[in-house]
Amino acid sequence: MNLVVTLIAADALDPALVAPVVKALGAHHAERLSDRATDIYCDGAPQPARATALACLGPVAVDVIAQPLESRQKRLLVSDMDSTLIGQECIDELAAVHDLKPRVSAITERAMRGELDFAAALTERVTLLAGIPEASISQLLDSVITASPGAATMIATLKAHGVRTVLVSGGFTQFAGPIAKRLGMDAAYANRLLMADGLLTGAVAQPILGADAKRERLLAECADLAITPDAAIALGDGANDLAMIGEAGLGLAYRAKPKVAAAADAEIRHADLTAVLYALGLRADAFIAPVPAETN
Ligand SMILES: [Mg+2]
Repeated sequence: MNLVVTLIAADALDPALVAPVVKALGAHHAERLSDRATDIYCDGAPQPARATALACLGPVAVDVIAQPLESRQKRLLVSDMDSTLIGQECIDELAAVHDLKPRVSAITERAMRGELDFAAALTERVTLLAGIPEASISQLLDSVITASPGAATMIATLKAHGVRTVLVSGGFTQFAGPIAKRLGMDAAYANRLLMADGLLTGAVAQPILGADAKRERLLAECADLAITPDAAIALGDGANDLAMIGEAGLGLAYRAKPKVAAAADAEIRHADLTAVLYALGLRADAFIAPVPAETN
């Protein structure tokens, strides 16, 4: 056998759903990781196996990740921030301070779907933020921004298992730094909003960190760890995550735009972010609970 196909349910995984998938894959055996997740060991190629499993499962809330067994162990996670590690788009929340959220979020949505040039769309939106007090950022971090379900457990557990965790965001350092710190991540890279006299100037530092920079960061982190991208996971939801998702050994789309979901190795559509831990073959009893202050 050369392949592991992991089924991950949002809640309990009904064993009656697993048996037909095992049969359809001509699998050798299945092994429960928890009441929500099961590994199925078989032969084949990842994408055809994933398609077979998904077709067999039908319209149930179960995610499927298929990957070569030999490269399952990972050393690096590179993750997007907005709508991935956190439930919000920071730029949209900043725009709300000026009652511009509908206008800005419409542009954000189109940019994340890949319908607009990322840098041009970011510049256009940041211009609308001119004059917003810098203090609004910490208020948003305290009262509006929330970690995605499972994010804190995912990061704490990856760290405990020797996986480096890096945040890369087309959003802003003023959010990415505190959020990475809150989650206990090793590093964060993002764009910097320029400030003057305690107010946003409406400009962003150049060059703008976009899709290419995310991919380059993933490659640089791999070089630093002396690993190949096979040993890396990339996680994101938007069009600017596609390049790094394509580069990583395991490219995962989370609650993603259709284009991203279609291009990724697998999609986390139903389960929370602890699905990443099941993808690595970790059992629920190996998960590390985050300290309460880091959850929400
Ligand atoms: Mg995103």
